[in-house]
This record gives sequence, structure tokens and C-alpha cells, in this order.
Amino acid sequence: MGINGYGTIGKRVADAVAAQPDMTVVGVAKTRPNYEATVAVESGYDLYAAIPERADQFGEAGLETAGTVEELIEASDIVVDATPSGVGADNKSLYEAADTPALFQGGEDDALVDVSFNARSNYEAAADADSVRVVSCNTTGLSRLIAPLREAFGIERVRATLVRRGGDPAQSDRGPINDILPDPKTLPSHHGPDVKTIFPDLSIDTLGLKVPATLMHMHSLNVTLESAPDVETVRDALADEDRLALLGEDLDITGTADVKEYAMDMGRPRGDFWENAIWDESITVKGRELYLFQAIHQESDVVPENIDAIRAVLEAEDKATSMARTNEALGLSD
Ligand code: NAD
Repeated sequence: MGINGYGTIGKRVADAVAAQPDMTVVGVAKTRPNYEATVAVESGYDLYAAIPERADQFGEAGLETAGTVEELIEASDIVVDATPSGVGADNKSLYEAADTPALFQGGEDDALVDVSFNARSNYEAAADADSVRVVSCNTTGLSRLIAPLREAFGIERVRATLVRRGGDPAQSDRGPINDILPDPKTLPSHHGPDVKTIFPDLSIDTLGLKVPATLMHMHSLNVTLESAPDVETVRDALADEDRLALLGEDLDITGTADVKEYAMDMGRPRGDFWENAIWDESITVKGRELYLFQAIHQESDVVPENIDAIRAVLEAEDKATSMARTNEALGLSD
């Protein structure tokens, strides 16, 4: 695999690829030398120059490069593009020129790709695709929950309020720092239509807010089911899903800061929490109405999905085998 764009998502995907028994990192493409480029080299990844005019900067910084991004793409069976929103669209012609399939991230438009992807929901749809979009962190979190609920109980309508982190921890230029923003201001928000790229016939409305927090997003959910299961039946259906973590009352996790601390205490790399963090106590059923709170670690929940998308595109394994292998290699559900 080649990874083009080695930031928040790209470096995590590179490490996750390296952890898989059936995958190898060919190299990672960077635009400029910095601490991430230094650590990439120390991690054993070959470094490729993403921008030809800046290629000399790596040598000047004492970092050896293995070639250009075009050479990385040529040498890879598939490329994961983890560049900033919109840059992936600009890069698409590079992948097409080399006839190398590419995975894009949630910041790109659905129209750019053959398939928008979530492993639990539509793994098979990515088979042999030239371009796949691993949907955003929020859409991934919603899709993982919607898929099993639909199968077990049917869904009439989903209503979700997304309380979104202002920026990732290292994004010191983002905000707000002392406000609560309706974002976007128009309702319902664009997040619902994004979920419909995975479930076209789903009825879903979403609302978005941005808050001064960096650790995770929080979703407040109300799902009208087609049947009226008791709460234990719903809890059992969710507990069966490896990428849904039910946080029991015994853990005494009060908020997203505790979830992140829990991930670090478990020895997770970078304190990543790959699963949806669902507060068990919040799961409530009244007739056909289900309510719950879930937190989404925006920097990492799409990482296992990228790994499964690679196998799905290359038709290397079926869905269950791929998801289980990914989970085991990462230490997810440990
Ligand atoms: P980021 O800014 O942390 O990393 C992007 C990296 O790409 C940076 O290192 C940047 O220097 C590099 N880059 C810029 N132009 C490039 C080019 N032409 N070629 C190669 N590299 C280039 O961004 P991110 O948060 O990792 O986001 C990447 C994608 O993942 C976006 O589509 C985003 O919407 C999506 N995504 C982000 C998050 C999140 O919370 N961070 C969650 C899910 C999905």
C-alpha cells in the first residue's frame, strides 16, 4: 500500500497497514519535511516527495527520499489518499494515470468515487472499484450503529444531533474556543445526506453544533424502530458488534475525556478509540423509540475502515474475515 498524505489519518492508516499480516507499506508521501516525516523514517517507512518542487527540502533536512509520489503510486497495489479535503480530488488523475485503485477520505465528495464505504454496511460494494471513499468519522459512527439496528429491528427514522469537536488536538488554528456554534446554520445538516450515501433509502435528519473541545464528537440519537424490542434485546444486538463498545456503568466513564484516558490506559496507540463509544446507561427504549449517546474518536474510527476497504477493493477477503483480521491486528475489542 502507498499512503499519500501523512497527517492525522494518513499516519494512523500507515501504522494500521503495517500491523496487518497480509499488507506491506510501500511508502508514504509527504509535502515537506517536519516531525511527522522524521518519525515516518524512524518507523521504517520509505518517504516519497508529494510535490516535485519541494523534493530537495527533504535532503536538506537530512531525510532521504525513495522517489516521487508518482513512483509510489506506480509501485503500490492500491493507494490510500489521506490529503486534506479537496486535495484528494486534485490527486485523482495521478491514480488514474497509473491505473492504481485509490481510497479517498470523508472530506471528498461522494460524486468523486465509484463507492462510498463502511465495512459493516456495504463491504461488498467496493469489490474491484477504481475509487472508494471511506466516509467521514461521523458518517462511519452513524453507519456502524444503523446497520445492525436495521437488520434486527427495522428503522423508520433516525434523528441525530452531532456535537462536533472544534478541531483535532493539534489543530491550534481551529475553534471555537469560547462559543457554541450552530454549524452548519441550516437544518437539517449535510451529515444526514452523507449517511444516505451508505443507506440510500434511510430516513434520517441530522443537526450539527461545534463546541470548544478537541477529543471526540458526541452524538445524541433518537431512532424510531419498526418494531418495539425490549431494551435488553437492543443492548444484546449492539454488544454483538465488535466496533461498538458499550461502556458499562462499572467503568464510571463520565465523558469523552475519560474515554480517551481509558484508551491510553489500555495502551492504545496515540490513545486511539477505534470503536463507537456508547454509554450503556443511555440506551433507552420507549415503545419503538430508541435513545442513546455515543462518542466518536474522529482521528481513528475510520482507520479500521480504510484497512477493510483495501481488502474489499482488492477482493482479498470476505467481509467477516477482513473485519476480524483488522480488529485482531489492531487490538480492537481487547
Ligand atoms: P491533515 O491535515 O491532518 O493531514 C493531511 C496531510 O496531507 C498533511 O500532512 C498535509 O501536509 C498533506 N498534504 C497536503 N497536500 C498534499 C498533497 N498534495 N499531497 C500529499 N500530501 C498532502 O488532515 P486529516 O485530518 O488527516 O484529513 C485527511 C482526510 O481525512 C480529509 O478528507 C478529512 O476530511 C478526512 N477525515 C479527517 C478526520 C479528522 O478528524 N481528522 C476524520 C475522518 C476523516
